Amino acid sequence: MAEMFHDDDADLSIIQSKTVAVIGYGSQGHAHALNLRDSGVNVVVGLREGSSSVARASEAGLSVKSVEEAVREGDVVTILAPDQVQAKVYEESIEPNLKPGAALLFAHGFNIHYGYIKPSADHDVIMVAPKGPGHVVRREFVAGRGVPVLVCVEQDASGQAWPLVLSYAKAIGGLRAGAIKTSFREETETDLFGEQNVLCGGLSKLIETGFEVLTEAGYQPEMAYFEVCHEMKMIVDLINEGGISKQRWSCSDTAEYGDYVSGPRVIDPHVKENMKAVLADIQDGTFAKKFMEDQAAGAPEFKKLRAQGEAHPIEATGRQIRALFAWSEDKDKDYHEGSVA
Ligand code: NDP
Ligand code: MG
Ligand code: MG
Repeated sequence: MAEMFHDDDADLSIIQSKTVAVIGYGSQGHAHALNLRDSGVNVVVGLREGSSSVARASEAGLSVKSVEEAVREGDVVTILAPDQVQAKVYEESIEPNLKPGAALLFAHGFNIHYGYIKPSADHDVIMVAPKGPGHVVRREFVAGRGVPVLVCVEQDASGQAWPLVLSYAKAIGGLRAGAIKTSFREETETDLFGEQNVLCGGLSKLIETGFEVLTEAGYQPEMAYFEVCHEMKMIVDLINEGGISKQRWSCSDTAEYGDYVSGPRVIDPHVKENMKAVLADIQDGTFAKKFMEDQAAGAPEFKKLRAQGEAHPIEATGRQIRALFAWSEDKDKDYHEGSVA
């Protein structure tokens, strides 16, 4: 059983006695900054010149400064810019301005684990990784609840890194649900594995392939969309509530029998072998290198693949179907406006 921490295990006054510089005000950045502020922590948000995020952070009543100025004030520097830019921001704007002994906090281990950021030995290197999107982290906190978090310490320069990371986790509401103790390596590799094989990559491809098979067999696209995509959320909600068994219990016996006999035909042993190969690329840094090299070149492959995904016929059908549900509109607003917070 993993080691877990709850509100009683942490001392909020530790983080309340420090200034936290939050670099980036996107999905995670806005949630960390606002939750810390509401927990009585002194927060300064660091953003680059001309940043589209300045107005939102200022309107929320936060102190907004340049990345350099914010870092100079920070006892804790939380790096919440996108993973692919963190190393450059660290090298150019963070490292030269760090207070002696300042702690560096991440919400994902990518840059530390793969060595793109190498902090000197006098800084604590810690992580509080919420297991949910930033908007849910904020929404749950406001509702008096919290999203579970992962906590870890890569470098304990002060000898006080654990009390500090737990205090920070408590301040963003992460100990209300509970924190799991892990390592930068485990967090990074399992996070990439989950999103590539199951949550994002596996799921998206499963839906697209199901849609292709039905429409190529002559069934109406709207029917295909309902059967392989729209109902997904309800199935996943049941799994979240009560496990795979509750989903099977709630569906018809026909669906349950089909699950048992056809699931293994689709997700056959090759799929497990493929997942192991993807895991190997994650573990040896092959995936990280490909991602970072493409990003450094202006993301040509990433942009091409994104355009291909958007052009898949299921997307046009999906837009028509979702327009039937007036209640979906609000949830889509941020996404269509391209705003994250
Ligand atoms: P976002 O893409 O939402 O963050 C964008 C923010 O970073 C914006 O405020 C943007 O401002 C700023 N930014 C972009 N480039 C720079 C730059 N060069 N210098 C300074 N600021 C910059 O990131 P996420 O919140 O998704 O991810 C942040 C971290 O959290 C990552 O490590 C990620 O893996 C982790 N994480 C994310 C989760 C999520 O819910 N999305 C879940 C758990 C962890 P501007 O207006 O200037 O572009
Ligand atoms: Mg991830
Ligand atoms: Mg059905």
